[in-house]
Parts: sequence; C-alpha cells; structure tokens
Amino acid sequence: MPSKNYNPNSADSKRKEEEIRELKIYLSQTVKPWFEEGRDGDPEAQGIPLRDIRQRLDASGVMERISHGGRQRMLEQYDANKDGMYTYPELEQLFLSERPRLNLNKLTRWQQLKLGLVSTVVPENATEEKSLESYIEAYNCKPPPLFIIFISVLETIIFIVYAVELKGTKYEVTAASGFPAYSPLIYNPARRYEVWRFVTYMCIHVGYTHLISNLVFQLVLGIPMEMVHEWWRMMIVYFLGVFAGSLAHSVTDPSSFLAGASGGVYALIGAQVGAIIMDVHQTWGYQEVCGWGARMSIRLGDIRRGVGMAVQMPGRALKKDCAQLLENMKQWSEAAMLYEKGGYYDKAAAVYIRSKNWAKVGELLPQVTSPKIHAQYAKAKEADGRYKEAAQAYENAKDWDSVIRINLDHLQNPEDAVRIVRETQSVEGAKMVAKFFLKLNDYASAIQFLVMSKCNDEAFQLAQQHDQMEVYAEIIGSDATAEDYQSIALYFENEKNHFLAGKFFFLCAQYGRALKHFLRCSNSDDSKAIGMAIETVGQANDDALTHQLFDYLLGETDGVPKASKYLFRLYMALKQFREAARTAIIIAREEQNAGNYRDAHDVLFSMYQELKQQKIKIPSEMAHNLMILHSYILAKVHVKRGDHLKGARMLIRVANNISKFPSHIVQILTSTVIECHKAGLKNSCFSYAAMLMRPEYRNQIDVKYKKKIEQIVRKPDKTEEDEPTTPCPQCGYAQAETELVCPNCKNNIPYCIITGRHMTKDNVTACPRCDFPALKDEFLSVLETEENCPMCSEMVKSEELKDVMDLNKYMNPDEGED
Ligand SMILES: [Zn+2]
Ligand SMILES: [Zn+2]
Repeated sequence: MPSKNYNPNSADSKRKEEEIRELKIYLSQTVKPWFEEGRDGDPEAQGIPLRDIRQRLDASGVMERISHGGRQRMLEQYDANKDGMYTYPELEQLFLSERPRLNLNKLTRWQQLKLGLVSTVVPENATEEKSLESYIEAYNCKPPPLFIIFISVLETIIFIVYAVELKGTKYEVTAASGFPAYSPLIYNPARRYEVWRFVTYMCIHVGYTHLISNLVFQLVLGIPMEMVHEWWRMMIVYFLGVFAGSLAHSVTDPSSFLAGASGGVYALIGAQVGAIIMDVHQTWGYQEVCGWGARMSIRLGDIRRGVGMAVQMPGRALKKDCAQLLENMKQWSEAAMLYEKGGYYDKAAAVYIRSKNWAKVGELLPQVTSPKIHAQYAKAKEADGRYKEAAQAYENAKDWDSVIRINLDHLQNPEDAVRIVRETQSVEGAKMVAKFFLKLNDYASAIQFLVMSKCNDEAFQLAQQHDQMEVYAEIIGSDATAEDYQSIALYFENEKNHFLAGKFFFLCAQYGRALKHFLRCSNSDDSKAIGMAIETVGQANDDALTHQLFDYLLGETDGVPKASKYLFRLYMALKQFREAARTAIIIAREEQNAGNYRDAHDVLFSMYQELKQQKIKIPSEMAHNLMILHSYILAKVHVKRGDHLKGARMLIRVANNISKFPSHIVQILTSTVIECHKAGLKNSCFSYAAMLMRPEYRNQIDVKYKKKIEQIVRKPDKTEEDEPTTPCPQCGYAQAETELVCPNCKNNIPYCIITGRHMTKDNVTACPRCDFPALKDEFLSVLETEENCPMCSEMVKSEELKDVMDLNKYMNPDEGED
C-alpha cells in the first residue's frame, strides 16, 4: 500500500512539468509522423483506426508493461470522441496521463528501474486510483531495503564460516551436500527444546545451490517488496515463514533435520500471492518472477523446487520452458511430466519414449497427434510381440505398409491387409499382399495385387506360368502400357486364342494383326469377333484393312456372305452414315419383298435405334417404311384381339401402300375388305373390293371370300361416317385419328406404336425399352392381354409406363446430323 511518506513538494511538481514538456517534444518528433503516414494522402482523414494504433504501439514496445486486454481498454478510454479513430491529440493525452505505466525512452534509467521493480509487486489494479508514479515517488531510498540485504548477508556469512570449518572432512560442502549437523543453529529433532533452532535453522544451507537459490529468491522478491512496504513488516513476514516452516516440519517429519531459508522465501511468495490474488488477470509481474525463479532453480540443480513452481503456476509456456531445460539436462521423467501437465502431449510422449516409459506413452497416445511418436510406439510394441497394439499404432502413424505387414505376417488377418491396400493404393502394401497370396498358391489374387503394385512384369510371368493370362488380361484393364498389351497378345497368339489375341493386338494398336486374328475366329464367337473386327477397322482408318473386312463380310474370302447387319455396322464404324442407312433400307426391302415383314420391321427398327443413338439423321424413307411395316404388324394384333375397327384402319393404311407388299397383295386387300366390312366402314369396304375385281387379282381371291366380295361390289353401299378426330398436338386442329400429317399445320405427327393413330398432346407415354411414343390408355389396355412392346418386342410391365409431359422430343425423329 502507498507509503504515507508521499508528499509531493513544489520541486517535484517543477520536475514533473519539465518532464511533460520534454515528453511532448519527444512525441511530436517520433509519434506525430505516424499520423501523417496514416492519413494515406487524405488530409480529411479523422486519424488512425484504433487497431492500427494498437499495432504501432505494440511494435514500438512502449506498452510492454501493460497486459493485452489492458492495452485495448486503455486505448479505448482515450478515444475521446469514441469514433474508433485515433487523432494525435488523443494519443498525446494518453502518453501524458499514462506515462508512468508506459515504457518510455524519456524516463531516466533510475525511474525505469524503480518502475520495473515496483510494478512487479503492485497489482496493476492498484494503479487505477493512484498511478504507479506515486509508488515510485513514495520511495526515496530512505531507509534502503536493509532487512532483506541484512538477512542475505548473514546467511551467506554463516554458510561461508561452516564451509571453511567443514573443508577436508567427510561433510565437505559441495553443490548439493555438506552441512554442519553439530551446529547449534540447525533444526535438530533431538534438540527441539532448544527453541531458537526453530528460527535459526534458516542460516544453515545444504550445499551452495541451496543457498544461492534461496538468496536469489529473497532478493528478487524481497527488495521490491521492502521498497514499498516497511522493513519491520518484511521482517515479521519472513520470520513467521521460517518459524511456520520448522513447526510444520516437526509435525510432518519429526525425525529429520531441517535447514535453509526456504520458509522465509515461501512466506515472501505467499505475501505476493496474497496481494495479487485480488486480480488474477494482472499477475504478469508475479508470473514473470516465478517463471524466472522456476527456470533458475532448475538451472541451479534444485529440480524439485523448479518443477514444483512450474506445476503450480498457471499457463503452459513456463511448463514448456522448464521441460525443455530438464530435457537438456536429461531429467526425462520430470521433463515429460511438465510437458504432459502443459498439454504438450507429443513432446511428453517423445520424452517418455526416450526414457522407455512405454506405459506412460500408451496412456498419452490418444492425445498424441505426431505420426512419428505413433510410429516409434508401434515399433516398440512390435519388438515386444504386441502385434495388435503395434498395428493400431502404425495405423495412427498412417504407416500403412507396416499395418499391412503386421496383419499379414503376425495377425493372420489378410482381409484387413487387403482392405487397407485397396483404400490406400499402397504399392509396397500390394506387393506384400501379392507375396502372401503367392504363398497360398492363390495365383489370381497374387496377380491382382502385383498389378496393383505396378509389378506388371511379375504378374505377367506368374500368369504365364500358371495359365492365368485371362485373369491378368482382365485385371490389367484399359490403362496398361502398349508393351503390356503386346505381351498378352503374343501369349494368346501362341495359344491360338484368336479372339483374345486380336483383342490385345487391338489394344496396342496393331490393327492389322488384330483383324487377322478376328477373321480367324471360330463360328462360335462369330458375332463378337466380327463386332471387334468392325471396331478395329473403324479405328485403324486403313483402306487395305477396310477392303479385307468388306471382302470377308461379302463372303469373298470364305464363300459365306455374312449377315448384312455387319455391313451396316461396318459403315457405321467407318462413319459412312449415308451408306449405312442405305444398306439398312436395302436389307429391309429384301426381307419385305420376300414377305418377311416382321424381319424387315426388325431390321429397320434396330438400325433406326442405332442411328438415333449416334444422333444421326434418320432418312425419311427409313422412318416411313418402318411406320408402314409397323402398321401391318398392328393390324394383325388388333384383328387377333377382335378390335376390328383399329385393325381395319391399319389395313387401310397398308392397302394404300400395297406396292410395298408385293408377295401378299391379294391376301392383304382381302383382309382389308373383310375387316372394313366387320367394322362397318362400308365405303372403304367397297373401294378395296372393287380393287380386288381387277383382272390381275380377281383369280387369286380365296374362294372362301370370292362370292362375298363380288356381292359387295355389285350392290355398292357408300354410306360411311367420317373417321373420328383428335386434336393435332401442334396446332390443336381436329385431325382424323389415323392421319399422320396435319392438314392444317402440315407437321408430321408421331404415331402411337399401339394404335398407329397420331399422338395427342395428353395421354402420352413411351415404351421404357425402345422409347417410342404411345397413347398411354391404349398401351395399358393392350398390356392386359399382351406382354411385349409391338415395336421392340421387349417385355414391358404396365407399372413401367411413365407419363411423358413433353411430346416434342418425339416430334422430329429424322432430325440430327446428316
Ligand atoms: Zn396441326
Ligand atoms: Zn418398345
């Protein structure tokens, strides 16, 4: 507490005025330029932001003595207009008012020293009412801090006297041993009745480090305290501490000697703590002193005290510092303990490892993040044969190869090893797993992991030795080198496996050899081989190879012409789409002329799909022919189901294109007449009956129907209602149901693959297999008796039919690249 000596006289205030004047000059020279810069060329700027001022002050070191929070609070306090900006007058005010708290160069050395010493014992909050300045000025060196100095000198002299006396005896004084047990001053449990010993034992020290560390403490703590408090208070505190120390000792350890001034020193520390405990946040002075003390104790060899202080002080940094010191001194267990207490688990574990304290390492492991530590622990566990723990630690260390190795070699757990190899793609790990499988004669797995470990050559050799080339070929996939593919191709060539030889020659771009092998394939994998041959020629882009394949397909090589579909696909592979489409139409026409309408339909359909997939324009001739053929198929379906009206409508469409069905003209016309008759389409019935009466057809009419048809022609009944209409999906015009070109907007309207009628805007679905559109109601009703789509012949379930909201994607199927 402030001394009552404080009484500023006029000389003091004069000196203060002088100081303030000097400080102002100093500030205008050193601090004012900050504001010129801070304005950044803007003369209107209101000042420097608080944050920037804070940074500058921090950098200058002028506020070192003030805690971080304190700095911010102080700055805010002097921001007079609270605009978050600092002007020079505001900062100047701060410097002038707070100058005792700041570390100003303008302070004289003596003032700086006083400020430093006093501020270590006065809690900062004490300065709020009266600035530190008052403490400095309160102390005028009268009287000087004599008590502590006196005590220290006394202890030193007594120590020296006994040291000289003991020289040459077996109690000779060294750094940490040697004391005069016979001394009347020491606390001797057997002579407790000599009560002075309860205090005088403070003058006896065991070894000079004991003395030095006590002296250091009491001087460092005691002198500044005595400068503020009075000598007699110091004396009371000190002696009480010494006395309490011996009393406590006599109770807790009644049989041993006690020496040293530690009790007094602890009392001083206790007094400090008492003063400071009021404001824990501002204990930096105390912390610094204790931190320094802890480090000093350790350096001097008084490890127990240093460690004890470091443990008790809050904060981590001191523990780390002390631990480092101890580590350098090879005091492993203390260093590790301090690291651990400070939360430096990696470091603690590292030190425990050095001292081989594996139990502690294991305890700390969950908190350790350093892979190195985990790895070291793992190695130790492995050496001990504790493989499970080792594997876990290797895993923590992310040393996957070791985890794999342990799993394979020691834990008999190949599943985990394989899983880790797959997850980490570890090359070394894969190699180990491959070796493991090799031992079990599981060649396929071994090959797989050899490939994974990029040992393709070994894998190839293994495959060759154990007839596993197909496995190897399968595993190697599509991202191996040309050499790898060639090796495989040569192997299969040797084995006369033409298909695989061809495939791997193809993969290493040796198209000539690949084609040769594909064309030599046996008939069993004909279609696959021809497919590959076509792909090869398409890739090779080589006229000679193309001709070779054409010759083969046309049967000029072996006298057996291959199916025209391959020709179509060859054209497609060569990207000769016009030829491909033309081939398709020719193929379909051949079938159609031969009366194979379903085959013709299917050829056109599959080529239509292929062109659509390639996004190539579908020739309108192809689309039209498919539509006519499909209508014929639909007519049969409807007639079979007894739906004569729908059948008749489809037959009328077919009859109008009767030239496309040359082998069955009379049969189709006859069916049309009969179905129209059944459906009540009298006029149509008459028209096609009349057509049948032409001389070229008349004699071919089946006798069963001849009479009936002649009757229809003889008594013509031309009453027939117009075909019902549904709206055009494009323009809404009421358009006849089976009319596929809108008379109003002239658009081609897609047809329903179930009824053959034109599509409407609503009620739209599509086949889930071939994606041709259909009227949903009609498709659902057909699926009650049929199970296949009439267009693609694939099986369709009614619940698979989804509503299609936008018909537009089906509007122009012949659009695409030409
Ligand atoms: Zn229209
Ligand atoms: Zn379909």
